[in-house]
Amino acid sequence: MEIICDWKDCKKRGIHKAPVEKNNSKKFRWLCLEHVKEFNKDWDYFKGMSQEQIAEFLKADLTWHKPTQSFSAPDNFFNILWGSVLENKEKAFLGNAEIKNENKKMQFSNQDIKAFEIMDLEIGTKWEEIYTKFKTLVKKFHPDMNSGNKKFEEKLKIITLAYTQLKMTYKTK
Ligand SMILES: [Zn+2]
Repeated sequence: MEIICDWKDCKKRGIHKAPVEKNNSKKFRWLCLEHVKEFNKDWDYFKGMSQEQIAEFLKADLTWHKPTQSFSAPDNFFNILWGSVLENKEKAFLGNAEIKNENKKMQFSNQDIKAFEIMDLEIGTKWEEIYTKFKTLVKKFHPDMNSGNKKFEEKLKIITLAYTQLKMTYKTK
């Protein structure tokens, strides 16, 4: 049985899950690619996250790091991550994370699609290219490169969350 996109007057196949309400992730409807993008356009799904939630989210990406490191302030997560990328600690940065065999067809969630958009990448880009893009963006928007400009820092934080989202998807569990 084929699911049809839930968007008004759309007859395409609904292959992407989208929450019925933007802040309610419990109920879903199915949309085609075009309409899930439309749905996502104005939705900054990180916006509602508290500093603690963001810290928890990023923690998932820091398993490579020395367990002795203290992450007292949420901002430390960002600084450590960015510092590591800028110092070219590529190997350490990827750490123990095994990346999925990308030749197999991967399933992407609504959040993944949003993350690809935030990073300005094609959906399903290879992990290596995602990492390279992230590195470029860190260099471009790092506060040290922009006289501590807060606007760029906020932008880089959102990019970092998107990157972390993708990393969790590409990691084998
Ligand atoms: Zn549609």
